[in-house]
Amino acid sequence: MPPAVPGHPGDRSDALIALADQCVQCGLCLPHCPTYRLDRAETESPRGRIALARALADGSLPVDPLTDAHLDRCLGCRRCEAVCPAGVQYGALLERTRQMQRQRRGAALRQRALEWLCARPALLYRLLGGYRALYPLLPKILPRPPARSTLHAAIVPNTDAPTRTAAIFTGCVARRYDAPAHAALARLCAAAGVIATTPSAQTCCGTLHAHAGNAAQGQRLAARNRAAFASGVPVLSSATGCHEAIAHALEGHAPVRDAAQFLLEHAQHLRFRPAGARVALHLPCTQRAVVQSDRALRALLARIPDLELVELPDTGCCGAAGTHMLDQPARAASLRQPLLDAFVASGATVLLSANVGCRLHLLAGGAKMVVHHPLEFLAEHLADSPTP
Ligand code: SF4
Ligand code: SF4
Repeated sequence: MPPAVPGHPGDRSDALIALADQCVQCGLCLPHCPTYRLDRAETESPRGRIALARALADGSLPVDPLTDAHLDRCLGCRRCEAVCPAGVQYGALLERTRQMQRQRRGAALRQRALEWLCARPALLYRLLGGYRALYPLLPKILPRPPARSTLHAAIVPNTDAPTRTAAIFTGCVARRYDAPAHAALARLCAAAGVIATTPSAQTCCGTLHAHAGNAAQGQRLAARNRAAFASGVPVLSSATGCHEAIAHALEGHAPVRDAAQFLLEHAQHLRFRPAGARVALHLPCTQRAVVQSDRALRALLARIPDLELVELPDTGCCGAAGTHMLDQPARAASLRQPLLDAFVASGATVLLSANVGCRLHLLAGGAKMVVHHPLEFLAEHLADSPTP
């Protein structure tokens, strides 16, 4: 977890400099950085960005738009952090850096509007429902609307398994876009003897705000989530991009569990029917580098008989990266293409990915594919689920 940020701006700079000074400049992270692989420039690498952030913090580098652009183009994927032998907390350093930038230059209107909407998930849910209804009349260059859940059969708790309770974290954009995954998670929990609820007072995890330097709003959202999940039952997160923020917010109040890891612990109660399908698995950066639930997910999917699971090669970040796909569309498309090529080469028609942003971005690439959250695929293949 990042160290606490004291209130004084000077303290913030000191904290940033202390984080940057952990870097021994070995360069081992460079080949793992998607933006370095794209540009082959030191300033687009983790080591280069750490040096730039430190120099801005100690005042040895004057502020200029090019330096800001190098820092803005960081995806926040934290692949560098996962391989750093010196234990540099790159995610914490990036958040500090963006706080410093935000304090100096503010935020664009679109970013402020997104942050406002995400802090009001009930309103966002209704707006996205309206967007889905109107989508057939709109130009098709706009992002796909949220899909409806295909899980219609009633959720029947497994009475053979000991009954426990859990709460499902639904987030903001994911509340509508991942509604099928949340329904799937409730079904899988029921099959495993766990009654899962979705507390209505919960809100956005605050990742969008924190990554844009708006730490104060992130802290306000964390407080609302602590009140919403005050019962202390395990909180299940199914969106890998939200996991760390909600875990941090509820630390000491309720245990936050990745849904795949939680379900794997109860997998002895889950029975699946054969899939008879070739399916591609995409592992988002946050699942690989932050939550590290990829092994649990593979183990769960391996329980589905007659499933040919093709794990797509790690081509680097797909470019979605929160609002990066909106802010840097050309770069996001360049980062996406190798993954789309790998999907076509896999011979699969269905793609599973646990990150809603990645799924939207991949669909926008024009490849013919059906994309699902892995939980949807698992729930559809429960032995007692109707054949889709
Ligand atoms: S691997 Fe770690 S210590 Fe080495 S350059 Fe990258 S951030 Fe710095
Ligand atoms: S977070 Fe990702 S894009 Fe940013 S410096 Fe690290 S590896 Fe590169």
